[in-house]
Amino acid sequence: MRLSTLFTKTSKEAPKDELSVNARLLMQAGFIDKLTAGVYTYLPLGLRVLNKIANIIREEINKVGGQEILMPSLTPKSIWETTGRWASFDALFRLAGVDNKEYALGATHEEVVVPLAKQHVFSYKDLPVYIYQIQDKFRNEKRAKSGILRGREFIMKDLYSFHVNEEDLDEYYKTMQKVYFKIFARCGLLDKTYLTFAAGGSFAKYSHEFQTITPAGEDEIYICDGCKIAVNAEILGELGNKCPNCGNQKLQPEKAIEVGNIFKLGTKYSEPFGFAYFDEAGNKRPVIMGCYGIGLGRVLGTVAEVSHDESGLRWPKEIAPLAVHLVTLNSPDIEADNKIKLASEKIYRELEASGIEVLFDDREGETSTGEKFADADLIGCPIRLVVSERTLEQDSVEVKKRGEEKKELVKLSHVTSNM
Ligand code: ATP
Ligand code: MG
Repeated sequence: MRLSTLFTKTSKEAPKDELSVNARLLMQAGFIDKLTAGVYTYLPLGLRVLNKIANIIREEINKVGGQEILMPSLTPKSIWETTGRWASFDALFRLAGVDNKEYALGATHEEVVVPLAKQHVFSYKDLPVYIYQIQDKFRNEKRAKSGILRGREFIMKDLYSFHVNEEDLDEYYKTMQKVYFKIFARCGLLDKTYLTFAAGGSFAKYSHEFQTITPAGEDEIYICDGCKIAVNAEILGELGNKCPNCGNQKLQPEKAIEVGNIFKLGTKYSEPFGFAYFDEAGNKRPVIMGCYGIGLGRVLGTVAEVSHDESGLRWPKEIAPLAVHLVTLNSPDIEADNKIKLASEKIYRELEASGIEVLFDDREGETSTGEKFADADLIGCPIRLVVSERTLEQDSVEVKKRGEEKKELVKLSHVTSNM
């Protein structure tokens, strides 16, 4: 990808009307654009990160049997009336269609997935089954001041699991805890992410949130560092202010962002839709459900919050928009400049040919060295390569990791094998 033809440009300054760190940085660097409060466009760089997060999620969930589908966002009032949520879901965007029909924009998809699953699951032989999607959700959120951490339109992975009994759900629920940690580890959030006990609703005593510690967080959690477990402030009292794992009473309060959550739903949604199966003895039994969410934009925004410095973003390797930022420093001497261009074009081709994604700053003319370096830091690819007259004197390129001061020269012939 060439910076000279990239659709977006970076800005010299962060947007003035934006308070959150994630949106300020991501907008300045050209990853996202704000249309209105809580509604964002993903631009080429941002979409690359988002797609990488999506693929990590797909890979990990497919490994444990998840099957991907795509449900609609436009949903009829009737299904929401079946569960009573047409009246009770405050944040639901309700709209009128033709013929006095009413609709809601999907805020979550239990009401769609349960009648869907009912058409394909009849007996114990059809269970368990795990269905998920990665899709836009709409919520009329009151506070939309946290950039992409809290959108009114946002992308969620929502997985729904269907089981014959509670034991089977419990087992899958534990599997999903491990899967979530794998996903957050690959997104670079493992160190700061805590399995957090939260109020569970009617079926289970607790639900679990995956909370990432950062001052930008809207939630307050109490962490037990020994166990790497936390408790949401809202249920702390219920647990007698101690760690549910080891009993430690010195829990530390922290601000955190909920990047994902998992719920045991039991029969909360299967019952209103009459979703049952025949067991081995031929008896009809209600299907037991779990649901599991991750906000993809929220994960992206959380990484921006926890992984940046005063110069810009610092992407973890697996979700970086591109692995390498290749900078060409032009020379006023025509002959030297030609050499620099040839050498950088060659490196660009070689890296791409070996499957390494490169953001190639091939801009000429007005763009100064300082601006090129500032953009490399702002965009935040993990490795910066510089080709200049000075590096070519030694048949080399300069290699520097984002966030480190150390620079080293690597021979042109060794660049690809060094990445
Ligand atoms: P919160 O308490 O932050 O409002 P929630 O309890 O409403 O979250 P769910 O409805 O279970 O969350 O959604 C699943 C996941 O989707 C959340 O864990 C979060 O990562 C993400 N999410 C929820 N609401 C938003 C939003 N408005 N913008 C971006 N991501 C969101
Ligand atoms: Mg919410």
